Amino acid sequence: MSFPSIKRNALETLQVNLGYKCNQACIHCHVDASPFREEMMNEHNIKLIPKIINQYLIKTLDLTGGAPEMHPLFKSLITEVSKLGIEIIDRCNLTILKEKGYEDMAKFLAHNKVRIIASLPCYLEENVDAQRGKSVFQKSIESLKLLNSLGYAKKDKGLKLDLVYNPTGANLPPPQKQLEDTYKYELKKRYDIDFNNLLVLANMPIKRFSNFLKKEGKLEEYKLLLRNNHNDANLNSVMCKNTISVDWEGKLFDCDFNQQLSISSKIKPNTLEGLSKDAINIRGIEISVDNHCFGCTAGNGSSCGGALT
Ligand code: SF4
Ligand code: SF4
Repeated sequence: MSFPSIKRNALETLQVNLGYKCNQACIHCHVDASPFREEMMNEHNIKLIPKIINQYLIKTLDLTGGAPEMHPLFKSLITEVSKLGIEIIDRCNLTILKEKGYEDMAKFLAHNKVRIIASLPCYLEENVDAQRGKSVFQKSIESLKLLNSLGYAKKDKGLKLDLVYNPTGANLPPPQKQLEDTYKYELKKRYDIDFNNLLVLANMPIKRFSNFLKKEGKLEEYKLLLRNNHNDANLNSVMCKNTISVDWEGKLFDCDFNQQLSISSKIKPNTLEGLSKDAINIRGIEISVDNHCFGCTAGNGSSCGGALT
């Protein structure tokens, strides 16, 4: 079975990858980010972002990387976009908030009411460190405490903090709500930490995670698992229906995964610059799909916003 054909709805979210530099190098990372990557979006493209948000009435700017906070223009971009009154998401790895030179970042994010979506693949230290690196869990806990102290996930503060779970191995994630309840109970009991929602994501069998599965001899088995659990009901809500993903060079893709696989979007012109010049009717454009897309529709579905059903 090949993946069914799907078309775009109205554009709501602009997801921008600011670059591949990251203070971590996790084994499941689908962008192969690390401290040694140098790719960064240039100033010209950064300046097009607020213009495009206005032009296409975009509701959400979703910033990702690497560690997006490591881009030298991260703060100026957020300051500009904050004036437009739309939702801004920072996909934050948490540990960056404890790195030298980023001590004021958490306060800056709170001041600008930036929604934080942060990876924490388990509430147990050994599982997080195995997937994300030594001492990542302890640093993440410290950062979550800092965010709570600034008002994140606290009632009536308007500061949203969501956590992201993805499985450590070649299996589908469990039901989102059930796991969220367990996370809330365990993080409160063990560390007095609050958060808003848990977003449950399936791992995509691409890049570093694909290599990891290959080494374990589980790649084909995992791909089959995704395909065998395909659920047509998830097709209407896959994230590519209302999101454009932009890479660090300003090229457009249907999602972050296609970006990593260099599968171009059929939107023409295919760049941030082109999007800013022409008023393109996005609705109805066919989405570029391939076999990895079963990672979005298997079981309860998976997207940057968590499970789909
Ligand atoms: S923190 Fe995120 S971007 Fe950085 S290496 Fe890990 S998964 Fe990749
Ligand atoms: S992998 Fe990308 S293009 Fe494929 S269904 Fe998921 S979001 Fe859409």
